[in-house]
Amino acid sequence: MTLTGRSRVAGVAGWPVAHSLSPLLHNAWIAAAGLDAVYVPFRVAPDRFAAFVTGLRGGGVAGLNVTLPFKGEALALADSAAPRARRAQAANVLVFQPDGSIFADNTDGQGLLAAFAEQAPGLDLAGAAVAVLGAGGAALGALAALADAGCRDLRVVNRTLSRAEAAADAFGARAYGLDGAARAFDGAGVLINASSAELTGGPLDLPLDRLPRSAVVMDMTYKPLITPLLTRAQAQGLATVDGLAMLIGQAVPAFEAFFGRPAPAETPVRALALASLET
Ligand code: NDP
Repeated sequence: MTLTGRSRVAGVAGWPVAHSLSPLLHNAWIAAAGLDAVYVPFRVAPDRFAAFVTGLRGGGVAGLNVTLPFKGEALALADSAAPRARRAQAANVLVFQPDGSIFADNTDGQGLLAAFAEQAPGLDLAGAAVAVLGAGGAALGALAALADAGCRDLRVVNRTLSRAEAAADAFGARAYGLDGAARAFDGAGVLINASSAELTGGPLDLPLDRLPRSAVVMDMTYKPLITPLLTRAQAQGLATVDGLAMLIGQAVPAFEAFFGRPAPAETPVRALALASLET
């Protein structure tokens, strides 16, 4: 990679950020497209995020991906936002305009839909009853994308019932606590894990046997790629969709927002990411 005085710069801000696969994906696309550009990780302390973003106004940096724990704050700092970011109450993309303003977007929902299109191509997502586990930013983004995609039977299952109810109210869904998961799974054609439960509390004891045999189970967590939930689903003969497909799917529109051209489709970013996850 040769950088020049004209190199376009974008990056990802998070705390921590060392685990992020975004630099790997974007720099592979930059190389494949032959761009004079670079995509870098920014490790930003939680109390410095607002100052960091404010300092980038004016376009010295073209744009940022935003990851945990900054997605809500990123939306609040922006001057304008895509409706889907407002509905998700979170932004994973900030674009710095030359006039000093900041535009926020949320491409996580697009990533989710792209993951289903790629790994469960026969699924009629719009016609399915969809159970979403979790009620944080990732779940809200999923619900917004699913509602926009035409899903009419949405069910939110969350440890804290009041958060499930708030999310359900916003998207015309039904709310359940974890003890109501069996009812939520009854007849659900799709289960999406948008919680960090298995990262923080260990494997979840979910009544997967209540899902129809045709159901598709998706887990947003991608390390490990085949999570305990996906392992159980596969053992039960259910089709699965992994979180890496979603991660790549959200990065595609972000790349275009930062660098003004489509991500080169033929670049083997999934293989690169899988190799990186194994190390
Ligand atoms: P939040 O912290 O906003 O939400 C976490 C959710 O998980 C809450 O609903 C919380 O429930 C629930 N939860 C946490 N611990 C437990 C537990 N022990 N038992 C049951 N429920 C629990 O996180 P995000 O919404 O931002 O992210 C959720 C996950 O999605 C993360 O793992 C993240 O990495 C992943 N993700 C993946 C993406 C991808 O591209 N593949 C994109 C975005 C996110 P409660 O309300 O009760 O606290």
